[in-house]
Amino acid sequence: MTGPLLEVESLRTTFVTDQETIRAVDGVSFSVAPRHTLGLVGESGSGKSVTARSILGLIDDPGRIHPDSAIRYHRPAFVQRIAREYPDRIRWVDGDCDGADRDGSHDGNAFVTIEAGDGEGSSVTVDRGSVDLVAAPENVVQSVRGGEIAMVFQDALGSLNPVYTVGNQLGELLGIHRGLRGGAATEAAAELLESVGIPDPKRRLKEYPHQFSGGMQQRATIALALACDPSVLLCDEPTTALDVTIQAQILELLARLQRERDLSIVFITHDMGVIARIADSVAVMYAGEVVERASVGRLFDHPRHPYTQGLLRSIPGLTGEVDRLPTIEGSVPTPNEPPTDCRYAPRCPKAFDECEMVHPEHVPAEEPDGSEGTGADGTDGSEGTHVDETDGTAERTGEAAERSEDAAERTGDVAEHTVACLLYPDAEPLEERLRTHRQRGDPGTAPDAAGADATDGNATEGER
Ligand code: SF4
Repeated sequence: MTGPLLEVESLRTTFVTDQETIRAVDGVSFSVAPRHTLGLVGESGSGKSVTARSILGLIDDPGRIHPDSAIRYHRPAFVQRIAREYPDRIRWVDGDCDGADRDGSHDGNAFVTIEAGDGEGSSVTVDRGSVDLVAAPENVVQSVRGGEIAMVFQDALGSLNPVYTVGNQLGELLGIHRGLRGGAATEAAAELLESVGIPDPKRRLKEYPHQFSGGMQQRATIALALACDPSVLLCDEPTTALDVTIQAQILELLARLQRERDLSIVFITHDMGVIARIADSVAVMYAGEVVERASVGRLFDHPRHPYTQGLLRSIPGLTGEVDRLPTIEGSVPTPNEPPTDCRYAPRCPKAFDECEMVHPEHVPAEEPDGSEGTGADGTDGSEGTHVDETDGTAERTGEAAERSEDAAERTGDVAEHTVACLLYPDAEPLEERLRTHRQRGDPGTAPDAAGADATDGNATEGER
């Protein structure tokens, strides 16, 4: 299959109380190709985990996913099964599908989109299409959860039930989702434990989670996530609580499982070192928004957003010999204030007046060679983060660039490099840049109308 397996577009998840509205995720877009690893990186409070929980429909009251958001799952066999179950909820489209006419009068209830297929009713076939998990009924989302997209949580012990053996927990899942019982379920459970590197699996099945070490507990949660043979694994900081040796083992395990099972992975972390090791492409999140997207090689060699540059500067070994590592002063804002400006402005060393007046939109990042930032690269390293060649991190960032190329070759997916900052496109004068961002924020705005005076701070079109 070509194209993305999972596509998130303009995802907005809010928590509404009597006192306030928390915009935990505000307009996040990214996609994950088959057999590809996307790193979602950012500080605590940037909205990474809420994004993952939104994909699986795990947002509890008072949380809401905005109905204009889209989470499209593209595996053709799944889309075909759902299309046959819901023949009156299908929208057929020719060519590109951007979801724009999802609310069209004739198919306002449609949540299955077929771009290439044939037939109708219970014999419809789908070669290319998607199911929108935001618009789909709860039972469809339930069948995606675990069976198509599974999640590995940070707190391994907390996500295992302490009063059941690991074998009971795996057996229950295998019974519900794969119809396995008795000896067949035990065999399958032992195979799963073996596949995640747990020795003597038959004996371990009879043990309780507290009898496992931290690393073994995390392996067991990965086995649980794999029990229903998902296509996408959402890993929410699965290595944060582990020491570096065990962390490396879990990362190697995930890479092996990805190869063996053709998995796509969304890997959530605040650790850029982990991103360098495991990701093919990266989306950097700040205060509920994605501020930069790129292949991992591009991002490490040519970070464009001041926040990404700050994150990379704070990695030991990446900035050469220093007495004191640079830090990003301040903290992520509570996302309950109106989103009217660049949210990074209070902490940004490059902020200027207009950053408080215009919301930055994603624009292509121009690379040092003058090209627009598309693709896995073999960059010259002449700009961006200076790598200390004596440090292991240098090796990892070298691996990262190589992996970008491998990923592009493997999946045909070339991560576009875009950045949401008013410094870009840096070839344009300030007034032109502001007009570009206003226009992108409101595509219906004509360039001239958008910025009668682009720098006076009074124009409201395109601002959010
Ligand atoms: S828009 Fe302004 S404040 Fe925001 S990151 Fe860019 S330079 Fe910094």
